[in-house]
Amino acid sequence: MSWESSAHYYRMINEQVRDAQGGMHSARLLMWSFDFADIEALQRSGDWAAATREMVEVAQRLEAAGATAIVICTNTMHLMADAVQAAIGVPLLHIADPVGALIQASGLQRVGLLGTAFTMEQDFYRVRLAERFGLEVLVPDVDDRAAVHRIIYDELVQGRVLPASRDVYRGVMQRLVDRGAQAIILGCTEIMLLVTYEDATVPLFDTAALHAQAAGHHLL
Ligand code: GLU
Repeated sequence: MSWESSAHYYRMINEQVRDAQGGMHSARLLMWSFDFADIEALQRSGDWAAATREMVEVAQRLEAAGATAIVICTNTMHLMADAVQAAIGVPLLHIADPVGALIQASGLQRVGLLGTAFTMEQDFYRVRLAERFGLEVLVPDVDDRAAVHRIIYDELVQGRVLPASRDVYRGVMQRLVDRGAQAIILGCTEIMLLVTYEDATVPLFDTAALHAQAAGHHLL
């Protein structure tokens, strides 16, 4: 979610399988594409119970259709990752794990996190990175969080990529670096549509790319 990042995931997973297997090989996968307007309405109204029911139902349908692992292609909707995992018999490949493991392996410890307000402000994401990978997670201040969140929903999930918003993200990332961030986690699957690795003075870790790689690895 949104389809903007789902399309990106689909391409990345297929490219990985093609590169590994060559020729005309491509990924055997099942994709459930939500109407993101429905999901966004549940998020905005804070109806996480209904959102969880939707996610669980779809994960079960995918498992019944033959999926051997599930990937939820958004950071935000990992808010209900534990509930989804508890309701299925195949592994849920959590989006925070490949990024946490790679940052830990890089020897970095203090990281900035960009994402939706839900991802930056609630515990489900930051605590996993801290507890599993020993990371100290910094989030932008309140005004910067509002700007990052607004640009995701008003622009990126709708496929709008505006240079002025890239400048906003550059400023937010630099303020995190000034506070000691040694790297930045792009903790929303659409941010790489806007930002490139040249937009920050520290390494950027793209959760969508790393998560798609984990999904591709599962297939190989
Ligand atoms: N794709 C975004 C994320 O990674 C935001 C959209 C959503 O709420 O799922 O969090």
